Amino acid sequence: MGCIKPVVTIGETYGGVEVVYFCGSHPKTHKRFYICKCVTCGKEAPRAASKIASGRLGGCMRCARITHGLSHTDLYSIAHGVQERITNPDCISFSSHGGRGIELYPGWHGPDGLIRMVRWLEDNLPPWRPGLTLDRINNDGNYEPGNLRWATASQQANNRRNNRRITWRGRTQNLIEWSREVGIPRDTLTWRINAGWSLDRAMAEPVGRNGRRGWRAKGRA
Ligand SMILES: [Zn+2]
Repeated sequence: MGCIKPVVTIGETYGGVEVVYFCGSHPKTHKRFYICKCVTCGKEAPRAASKIASGRLGGCMRCARITHGLSHTDLYSIAHGVQERITNPDCISFSSHGGRGIELYPGWHGPDGLIRMVRWLEDNLPPWRPGLTLDRINNDGNYEPGNLRWATASQQANNRRNNRRITWRGRTQNLIEWSREVGIPRDTLTWRINAGWSLDRAMAEPVGRNGRRGWRAKGRA
């Protein structure tokens, strides 16, 4: 053969992949292949010994693409931004996120977690497009599977508005929860509060003929 065989040891980790077992040599090129396990996602696939030994695989094809190729792209920056807001007290938005008890899904911490988060976003949300930001469905909930969606800036502002905390009669809850409790439509309640009504009046005055909603709903009958 004449060439030096790359040395690869079973059980060792090289650049994001762990060598699991020898799976055979290519019949023509005689290149040796090993089944490798991606350190980040656990996927197993055959990889050539020379590539493994280079230490530059960076994981399975998909994780490597994120590590090497996507490091400056949007999903990566979005996921990285979330990590920063949650875990870095020096981050300017920390106080409104990690600082107030919002947590990051345990599997999404650290560099590998970042890749797993990007993959989750790719697999579970519609494709990202410019103008969309990562929004928590429940604004008081965590950054975790099931509580995330893409939202435009105005949807997100709306979500925040609906999640506005209002203290009335010694209790604090979201605008939406108050709306349900007192039976006044959310939009009407928002309008009343923005118009400067006292909370007692905004929460208690029936939506009547002169109510914003009532007037529209009834039309000009
Ligand atoms: Zn992987």
